[in-house]
Amino acid sequence: MADRGILERLAEGVVLGDGGYIVELEQRGYVVTGAFTPEIAITHPGAVRELHLEMKNAGCEVLQVMAFYGSREKLNTVGYGDKVMEINRAATDIAREAAGGDMLVAGDLCTTWMWEPDDDKSDRLVADMFDEQIEAQAGVDFIIGELFFKLGEALLCAERIKRKTSLPAMITMSFRESNVSEDGFTAAECARRLQDAGVDIVGLNCMNDPQRMLPHVREMRDAFDGYLAAQPVAFRCTDETPWFTGSPAFPDRLEPNQLTRYELGEFAATAKDIGVNYIGGCCGCKATHMREMAKALGKFKEKHRWNARADMPMSETEFSRPRREAVSE
Ligand SMILES: [Zn+2]
Repeated sequence: MADRGILERLAEGVVLGDGGYIVELEQRGYVVTGAFTPEIAITHPGAVRELHLEMKNAGCEVLQVMAFYGSREKLNTVGYGDKVMEINRAATDIAREAAGGDMLVAGDLCTTWMWEPDDDKSDRLVADMFDEQIEAQAGVDFIIGELFFKLGEALLCAERIKRKTSLPAMITMSFRESNVSEDGFTAAECARRLQDAGVDIVGLNCMNDPQRMLPHVREMRDAFDGYLAAQPVAFRCTDETPWFTGSPAFPDRLEPNQLTRYELGEFAATAKDIGVNYIGGCCGCKATHMREMAKALGKFKEKHRWNARADMPMSETEFSRPRREAVSE
C-alpha cells in the first residue's frame, strides 16, 4: 500500500488520474462491443495488466480498477453475472500488482442502469450490487463512483461507500444532451449535494470531450470549495451532440474521432488553472494522452521515459537519425 493516501496528495497539489480502459480494450479486441463489460479481468488478465503498466509508464499517479460495468445485472447481459465477485476481485488484484508501492489504486463503481427515482425496490437492488462490488474490491486506497447520469444513483453510491468502508470517495457525474442531470439537477447542484453527503472528491467524467466538459467543470468549481475532479473523453464531440456515445461513430467507428495527445495536454493545463484538483482521462485517453497530460502538469519524470530522448524534437530521436545519416551518405 502507498504511504500517502489520495486526500494527503490532493492537499499538496494536483493528482493525475489514469486514462480510459474499456473502450481501449474493446479496440484491442478483448471486450464485447457495445456491452463494454469487464470479464476481461478473468479471460485476458494480461491485457488489463499491460494497459495499467502503460498508464504507469506515462506518469499517471492512480490506477483505477478495471471493473467498469462490473455490477451483477450488467455482467448478466453477457452471461457472467454469477462471476461478479471473481471478476471484481481479479481486477483489483491486477491493479494492485501493477501499481507497486507508490501509485494509488482506486476501486471502481459506476452507473448500473437499474436505478429509478422514488423506487424503493430499485434502491435496494442497486445498493446490493454496489455492496457486492465494494466487498470484492477490498484492498483499494479509495473508491471512484463514476458515470452517473442521475444524482440520486450517485448519492446512493456515495452512501454505500461510506457505510461499507472508511475509504475516501470520489463521485463523478456525466452529462449527455442536457445541462442538467437526468433526474433534473444542474452541475452546481450535483456538486453541492454530493459534498453535503460527505463525498471527498466531486466532479465529472466521460461523455464530453474537453471543450464540452469545461463549462460543467467551471460551473462546479464556482459552486463548491471541495476537491474537484475532471476526466473527459478523447473523442471529438459536436455542439449538437456533446456526448460521444450519441455519435453515429459509437461504438465501433470511433477511431477517426480521436483527439490528439496535445489536445488533452492543453485540457490538463486549463483544468489546473481553473482549480481542478484531480485531473485524468476517460474513454479514448490512451497512454500517449496521459503522458502529455503528465508533461503539462509537470509530472513527467525521468523514470517514466520510454527512451532517453523522449523530450527531444521528434526529428532528433534515435528513430530518425540512422535514416537521415543513411540519406546524407
Ligand atoms: Zn468514459
